[in-house]
Amino acid sequence: MTKKYNKNLKEITTMKIDAECNGIIPIYFEQNIYEILVKGLSPIKVLGGGSNVLITKNQGGYILKNEIKGIEIVDEDDQQILVNVGAGEIWHNFVLWAIAHRLGGIENLALIPGTVGAAPIQNIGAYGVDQSGTFHSLRAIDMKTGVTKVFFKNEVKFGYRDSIFKHDPYRHFFITRVSYLLKKNPKINIEYGGIKDKLKEKNIINPTINDVVTAVIEIRKSKLPNPQYLPNCGSFFKNPLLDQDTFESLKEVHPDIPYYPAGKHIKIPAAWLIEQCGWKGFRDRDAGVYEHHALILVNHGNATGKEMTQLYQKIQQSVKEKFKIDLTPEVNIW
Ligand code: FAD
Ligand code: NAP
Repeated sequence: MTKKYNKNLKEITTMKIDAECNGIIPIYFEQNIYEILVKGLSPIKVLGGGSNVLITKNQGGYILKNEIKGIEIVDEDDQQILVNVGAGEIWHNFVLWAIAHRLGGIENLALIPGTVGAAPIQNIGAYGVDQSGTFHSLRAIDMKTGVTKVFFKNEVKFGYRDSIFKHDPYRHFFITRVSYLLKKNPKINIEYGGIKDKLKEKNIINPTINDVVTAVIEIRKSKLPNPQYLPNCGSFFKNPLLDQDTFESLKEVHPDIPYYPAGKHIKIPAAWLIEQCGWKGFRDRDAGVYEHHALILVNHGNATGKEMTQLYQKIQQSVKEKFKIDLTPEVNIW
């Protein structure tokens, strides 16, 4: 039997906004989900590590807190290993498990907070790699019908911080397990500036996956605020992708704009746009913008959901006025 516990969401999201729901219910096994469905509790939302959610108000319904664990090797050949992971496993622990087993493909994604089950939802990415490169399949339960379905990579439509699970009708699925194909002889990717420079600084010429993980952890610890001490939910907005013509006209007005080619589009760092509008380090009561990174909104203690909402909307408005670019939240707004 599942049991209800606690109703306050503050301690289970990394932005630490004070808000309540009708009940937070831990889910250890798929069976627990079927029990909830039979009881007819509604509305229901799923939460993993709470590191990509901004709670703006009290939630009317129930929160299912994913605690489904287990990492199991299910198949292998001489090149790769198929691993099936419980969606409630901590993503970074899975990266460390892979490194301990000398398996590569996810080393650039070290120290990303949250659970394995949330990783495919926004196709987590960092330092030139995203999880779609090793993703094999996932198992999920449709919370509207109770039907369980396995989704293979070609069905999930991974994009830049995107997948079908961010859109209807797939928002209503509870992801319970995810399978990854990890490489026995990985080709490491250190093209992203920060990693290359960090390895150079340490005089590492032929880096192993272990060296990459260590470098990524060091860079992240030095650049990003630890939510334990300064609550935040990582990059608040997606980096905008512009078409070539829009980018050319923008560059005429702002010749120093940083940019990166991204397929048919040009990616502009949202942090730069926000910084140019003067927001870096801004603080109004406890709602603020991190002083060392303009893309990270922070809660200095007791910011409310309403205050954080006003802040992110003002940022969107000023970027729109100055650059005519719409910033889309990467964070899920509840
Ligand atoms: P949650 O915040 O709990 O949930 C996020 C969304 O997914 C919600 O809509 C929730 O309903 C849904 N969800 C969660 N689990 C499930 C499930 N099992 N089934 C169905 N729906 C589910 N992201 C990156 O991509 N790259 C980074 O480098 C990165 N760095 C970060 C650094 C910091 C300091 C922080 C705070 C965040 C960072 N993030 C990054 C964002 C975040 O870590 C990821 O989006 C992560 O995957 C969220 O996992 P979670 O378990 O905390 O998800
Ligand atoms: P950064 O190195 O300061 O770079 C700023 C932005 O420029 C990044 O968003 C990145 O886009 C882009 N960029 C930099 N070098 C690039 C290259 N060689 N090719 C393509 N794009 C490049 O970034 P950061 O803020 O410190 O973050 C480092 C990495 O961790 C990034 O990949 C970032 O996405 C990830 N991260 C994500 C979150 C989150 O919550 N989503 C939070 C912290 C860090 P990309 O973002 O597309 O890589």
